[in-house]
Amino acid sequence: MRIAVLHFAHETVTFLPNDTTEEDFRYPGSPVGGEALLATDPKGYIGGFVQVAREHADVELTGIESPLWPKTGTGSGWITTAAFESFLGRMVAQLRAEGPFDGVYMALHGAMAVRGVMRPEAEIARRVRDAVGPRAVLAATFDPHGNEDEQFLRHADLAFCVKYFPHYDMHLQGQRAARMLVRAIRGDYRPATATRKLPILTPTVMQWTGAAPWSDLIQRALVWEAREPDLFVNVFFGFPWADVPDAGMTFQVTTNGDAALADRVARDMAGWAWRRRAALVATTRIHTMAEGVALARQAVTEGRGPVVLADASDRSGAATWLLDQVLAQGLRRTLVATIADPSAVEAAIAAGAGAAFDRAVGGGADPSAGEAVRVVGTVLGVAGATTPRAMGGGQSWVMIRFGDGNVLVLSPYLVQITEPEELWRLGLDPAEFDVIAIKSRVHFRRGFDDSGFAPTILVVEPDQPFLGTARLEALDYRHLELRDFYPYGDPPDPLG
Ligand SMILES: [Zn+2]
Repeated sequence: MRIAVLHFAHETVTFLPNDTTEEDFRYPGSPVGGEALLATDPKGYIGGFVQVAREHADVELTGIESPLWPKTGTGSGWITTAAFESFLGRMVAQLRAEGPFDGVYMALHGAMAVRGVMRPEAEIARRVRDAVGPRAVLAATFDPHGNEDEQFLRHADLAFCVKYFPHYDMHLQGQRAARMLVRAIRGDYRPATATRKLPILTPTVMQWTGAAPWSDLIQRALVWEAREPDLFVNVFFGFPWADVPDAGMTFQVTTNGDAALADRVARDMAGWAWRRRAALVATTRIHTMAEGVALARQAVTEGRGPVVLADASDRSGAATWLLDQVLAQGLRRTLVATIADPSAVEAAIAAGAGAAFDRAVGGGADPSAGEAVRVVGTVLGVAGATTPRAMGGGQSWVMIRFGDGNVLVLSPYLVQITEPEELWRLGLDPAEFDVIAIKSRVHFRRGFDDSGFAPTILVVEPDQPFLGTARLEALDYRHLELRDFYPYGDPPDPLG
């Protein structure tokens, strides 16, 4: 049984001014093929897939040369047509050259947005199908932020989407993809699928599955999977910062040959979500920067620290709004991580540890980043990047000590800190900080909230509704009509 494995993933913020280029996908370690691709991300999708695939003695895996995430992370906009065609073209050529394959596993995301290709994951599936022929089985894994409609499963057979946000079950969905792909190749599983879109669009900051009603939504999917063997429910929350025609919430259900059951469960899930739409769009309280910093100070005074201030809005990494308020309100023992500013990183590295630092940092990438903010202090040190995605390509971060016990971490690109350990591995001491200010919407809850680390969590965004705002009505959509979605319009009952 010969199975090809490929990876092509991005969560594209189409409102960012900087396109994602072929060069952004090229750095030491990317693109990668063969065994090295199979060894990437051992705790993630590909790791889970490879582990279970290799439990089968008759399975042979081929790692197709694939780009990993761009070095810009999620801090870059539309993928250029040239980049998409270049990588996909090479992957398809290799599939043709090294075939025949009985199956293909595609590690995708679902919120990739490509100039001129409105449904890139469906296009990847279509081109892969074309290369490997109608008899091969195509399976994929997805991120719940995927914007998908029925197109993908017209070309592919199986899709497995992560259920939790933060995304705890990537490895599990990779394992499932392997098990079901092998069974489908053997003819023991014949996928019958149903896809249902729901006109609900939510900013991702609302989608934490650690609390109701999002935890209830996932629980309902889990109950269906538990009571009906061989049934799988995908809940795509959707990603509203990709301005694409298939944005929004989607349910996919797959059964072993029972189309009526797939349809019934998809209808149940969609109906459940639609009835709770008012609760689904209003979960997390979002404070202004000034309010959040004042509340953080109060929480520390009252012994409710450590406090996490999460900037849910920054999409470039360069935003200084929170740093500006930390300085304005004289917050102390505060760790700010990070502000993206490649030239400040270079300057601090050149100056060296212990050198004086006096420089305006961040800002300016676009209006959402705000003004550069002057920081006066000393270079505390230089360290290698500690977040999984930023470690690729050997990025360096620098730490600046300023004010009364504060530390600022500067990075070349947008960084989303999701675990306290990512900060302590820089050599920082947890006992020195009462407040941690980061850029994240929900993923940080993995390490700072679901783990029990921080008793006080404050989500903030700037006063103005910039491109990362949770106030989606401020965004200039071109490929969808916001009023077609709840809560921005009053769409008819999709099950009516
Ligand atoms: Zn996601």
